[in-house]
Amino acid sequence: MAKHLLFVALLGHGHINPTLPLVEELVRRGHRVDYATSAEYADAVTGSGARWVELPPLPTIEAPTGDFGPEIFGRFMRHLFTGMRAAYPVLREHCAAESVDAICYDAMNWCGRILAEELGLPGVRLIPNFASNETYSLFAQFMDGTGGVNPVVAAIGPDCEEFAAENGVALDPANLLDATEKLNLVFIPREFQPAGDSFDERFHFIGPSLGSREDEPWSPPDPEAPVLFVSLGTVFNDRPEFYRTCIEAFADGPYHVAMSVGGLDPAALGPIPASFDVRARFPQPAVLQRATAFVSHTGMNSTMESLYYGVGLIAVPQMPEQAANAGRVQELGLGEQLDARTVTAEALRAAVARVASDAAVRANLDRMQKVVRESGGAARGADVIEEYLR
Ligand code: UDP
Repeated sequence: MAKHLLFVALLGHGHINPTLPLVEELVRRGHRVDYATSAEYADAVTGSGARWVELPPLPTIEAPTGDFGPEIFGRFMRHLFTGMRAAYPVLREHCAAESVDAICYDAMNWCGRILAEELGLPGVRLIPNFASNETYSLFAQFMDGTGGVNPVVAAIGPDCEEFAAENGVALDPANLLDATEKLNLVFIPREFQPAGDSFDERFHFIGPSLGSREDEPWSPPDPEAPVLFVSLGTVFNDRPEFYRTCIEAFADGPYHVAMSVGGLDPAALGPIPASFDVRARFPQPAVLQRATAFVSHTGMNSTMESLYYGVGLIAVPQMPEQAANAGRVQELGLGEQLDARTVTAEALRAAVARVASDAAVRANLDRMQKVVRESGGAARGADVIEEYLR
C-alpha cells in the first residue's frame, strides 16, 4: 500500500545527495514523499520526485581556518541547533496538517527523531557516514583532546534543556548523534564500516546509489588524457594553499586535472595551467567515471562515489569525520592518506603515482567496487522501508 513519507534533512549536499536515489525509488513505487529542507536544495529534492517542504535556511557560519578541534565542533553543533530550533515548529505544523506514515530523518537532524517519537510515528534513521553502536563510535573521534568532556554537551547542553522545556519533549544532548532507531539505513557497505559485524538487524548497510546523477554529462577535452579529480567537498573547502600545491604538482602533466574549489575565487590561485580545469562544482559521478585517481577530502559520499567507480583515493581529510574515513581507506588498501597542511607538491605527485599504479591497491579497489555495487542501494533501501511499514 502506498505510504506518505516525510524526509527531513537540514544541511549539506553530503547529507542530501545519498537520500535522493532512495526518494526517486520510493516515488517510482507509488509512495508519496515530502522532503523538508532549505531552499538551496529545493530543486534537488523536487527533481527526485518529492514535494518540497520549506525549512528556514541555516544562518551562515564562518568556515574554520584552523584545525577542526572540539571547540570548532561545538560551534558547529550550536549552529546546527539553531537550524533545528527553527525547523521543529515547521515540521510539527506539517505533520498536523498532513497524514504522514513515517519520518525518515538524517542522523544529524535529531528533530526528525524527536518529532517521530512525539507523534508516535515510525522513524527511519538515514546515516550517510559511519554508523555507531556500543562497539564503534564515530563520535568518539571528536572527543580527542577534550579530556573526557563531551563537546556536544558542553556546546549545546543549555540549548537542549531550553528546547525540551519549550516543546515538552525529552532531549538528551549526550545521545544526539548516536541514537539508534528501529530501522537504520546506512549508505555504505557493511565491509567498509569499522566493526561492521557488530551491528545488529536494525542496521541495513545499503551502500551508495547515484540514481540520475550517474547520467550527468562530462568528458575531458582530450578523450585519451588520464584524468585526476581534486575536490575537498562542499563544506570545508576554502583551502587556496592546498589547491596551489596541486597546481604545482600537476602543472606539467601527465593528467588532465579537474579541480573543484567551491566558492573560492580561482583568481586567488594565480595562473591556472592549461592542463587544469578549475570550477566551483563538477558533476562528480561523471568525472569519477573517467578518473584515474581522486585527491579527496574523503567526505563519505565522495569516498563511496570513488569506490563505486573503482577509483583509488589520495585522502586529504579536513576534519575528524573525514579523517576516520581516510583511515579506513588506508586500512583497506584503497588509497593513501596525506596531511593537506604539510604535503609538498612532490609528495602529492608521488602518492598519486603510487595509488594509480599499485597492483595491490587495484585488486582491493576491484573487490570493493563489487561489494559497493552489490550492497543493494536505493532499491534495497525502499524494500526495507516497505517491509518496516507493512
Ligand atoms: N559534489 C559534486 N561536485 C563537486 C563537489 C562535490 O557533485 O564538485 C558532490 C559529491 O558528489 C558528493 C557531495 O557533493 O555527493 C559531497 O559530499 P561529501 O560527503 O563527499 O562531502 P561534504 O561536501 O559533505 O564535505
